[in-house]
Amino acid sequence: MPKRVVILGSTGSIGCAALEVVAALAGDVSVVGLAARQGWQLLAEQAARFGVPYVAIADEQHSDDLTQACPPQTHILTGSDGLVELVRTCEADFVLAAIVGVAGLPATLAAIERGLDIGLANKESLVVAGPLIMPLARARGSTLIPVDSEHSAIFQALLSGRPEEVRRIYLTASGGPFRTWDRARMEQADLEQALQHPVWSMGPKITVDSATMMNKALEVIEAHYLFGVDVAQIRVLIHPEAVVHSMVEYCDGSLIAQLGTPDMKTPIQYAMTYPRRVPGIAELLDWSQACRLNFEPPDFERFPALRLGFEAARAGGSSPAVLNAANEATVQLFCDGAIPFGRIAALAEQVLSRHRRLENPTLAQLLECDAWARQEVTACMRHCSV
Ligand code: NAD
Ligand code: MG
Repeated sequence: MPKRVVILGSTGSIGCAALEVVAALAGDVSVVGLAARQGWQLLAEQAARFGVPYVAIADEQHSDDLTQACPPQTHILTGSDGLVELVRTCEADFVLAAIVGVAGLPATLAAIERGLDIGLANKESLVVAGPLIMPLARARGSTLIPVDSEHSAIFQALLSGRPEEVRRIYLTASGGPFRTWDRARMEQADLEQALQHPVWSMGPKITVDSATMMNKALEVIEAHYLFGVDVAQIRVLIHPEAVVHSMVEYCDGSLIAQLGTPDMKTPIQYAMTYPRRVPGIAELLDWSQACRLNFEPPDFERFPALRLGFEAARAGGSSPAVLNAANEATVQLFCDGAIPFGRIAALAEQVLSRHRRLENPTLAQLLECDAWARQEVTACMRHCSV
């Protein structure tokens, strides 16, 4: 029987790549649910092409358009609650969590509560609620398989040894478009420059996060929760070619890495077919050509977001949720042209420094912290000197 898959965020960069993978896997996977915020035309096309019975759209404005555009037998759900309902209703085995931001948290949680296996692209969910998600997944028998390329690499490398044999985890980072820029130039970078990622083609939020290196900061927190490793065991390495997707160092000094072309279809497919491997559709590395792989330590001065990520990871509790929310809000302000690039991390730092951390927050408290951080960004924008 084919694996029954739900794709949350199907109209996005990861969602669309996932559907290419599904098409290539032919009869092995069937899509039983799709969800997105807007883009009803694309959602309807996807539903028709893959014969999907359940489709949810968060933006209620377009529910009629979607209903008319979908085949008549399609069940349409709307609003944020519609997404959660979709996850609770569909007969599914696997949910690809590919919504961007904390907006993806309720549906991801609903899928874990049902004990479904999760392909986790939506790192923000884990950053915000890692200490609630991980025990819930264990209790419900839901396997979290990372889709983030670095975490997929680590997940695969961890199969080479036992948890207590792990010495360090090296998260690689391409360094983004501003890897070689000086700080003054970077402070004034505009949106177009921030969206010119040298290696990966991704949605706008994560592309800006790659430019600030907040993406790597979030990934440090993601790795800490997902793999249960101490923050002190995690290192970031700049690797501009993005061929070595990450590495695990074992106590005997062996480093186990996963390599491949920078194409998200590989980790998406691995998450879908795990624990099996099947032929993939991403281009292969061409070792008949000379190639160089470079590595360098990160610059925490030019990329203060990375330092903030380590600080929030070490602090734990509600701090990662606050960092994430402040970042989501400031990235939106930058995309809207309301603040220069240099203020993204500066405002996030300001908000984090004002936060009174909760040690063991509940989900409701985490969402309150998220809302507080967003308000605080607006307040800081008006009154702070940063
Ligand atoms: P994207 O902006 O291209 O797509 C986001 C998707 O989420 C869209 O389908 C959108 O409609 C949906 N969405 C947004 N807000 C929503 C809401 N409130 N309710 C319902 N749906 C909503 O983003 P992306 O680049 O595909 O990234 C998705 C996630 O995967 C992010 O968490 C990102 O960090 C992670 N990720 C992406 C990549 C990549 O290569 N793109 C790599 C690693 C991890
Ligand atoms: Mg990544």
